[in-house]
Amino acid sequence: MCDIAALKDEQNSCLFNTRRLRLSNVLLIGVGGIGCGIAVHLAGAGVGSISVCDFDVAAAENLNRQFIFTTADLGARKAEAAARFVSGYAPDCRVTPIVQKVSGQNAADIISGYDLVMLACDNIPTRLAVNEACSMRCINLIDSGISGGCGSSYLYIPGKSACLACLMDGTAESADKRTVGAVAGIVAGIASVTALEILSSKSHKKAGKLILTDALNNTTDELNIKKLKGCRICGGDLNVG
Ligand SMILES: [Zn+2]
Repeated sequence: MCDIAALKDEQNSCLFNTRRLRLSNVLLIGVGGIGCGIAVHLAGAGVGSISVCDFDVAAAENLNRQFIFTTADLGARKAEAAARFVSGYAPDCRVTPIVQKVSGQNAADIISGYDLVMLACDNIPTRLAVNEACSMRCINLIDSGISGGCGSSYLYIPGKSACLACLMDGTAESADKRTVGAVAGIVAGIASVTALEILSSKSHKKAGKLILTDALNNTTDELNIKKLKGCRICGGDLNVG
């Protein structure tokens, strides 16, 4: 059998620190359209350990974007089905399923001990609970989301950049739940590259920058997000970094 880990090292060597990737331990919250892409991209790049957290089950209406599930997985816990798929796809990656709903009560315990948290869910209370827990535990957080043909990715580094509470101030949950698999794929790719940069080189260059992609109009923009004055999570400084 070929040495998959060695082949990945060869592929990554000019872009990322493969040794650091292999030693990394990532928590992915939400195995939806974006989360499926993130799990595959990180495992494929040689990240050593990924925990996939989702309480929900695979459903037929989501298969257009949740491509790691098949019709045979319908009704199965997504965290467990995702762990099975990723373990087969990348046997050099240790994948742990966590079947749990993340809330303000358990977020700090669930995220504890990871090098990076990848947040890919459309639920604002969950995102804010994870944001607060990451701030408290000083763990870097990448948040991603899609709505229609648009998507976003944001890197929060506690102590350095504005937090998700500042980013989402006044934001309502999108009423449009229709999502195109290809758009989820674009956002998953952007978020995954940011993750590989952070894990392998500790690069902070994308901290506090919201990357916005409009797939239908073929545009990508980068916005600097400022800390809101008085934010109880990230300190209330008006300056980023
Ligand atoms: Zn904040």
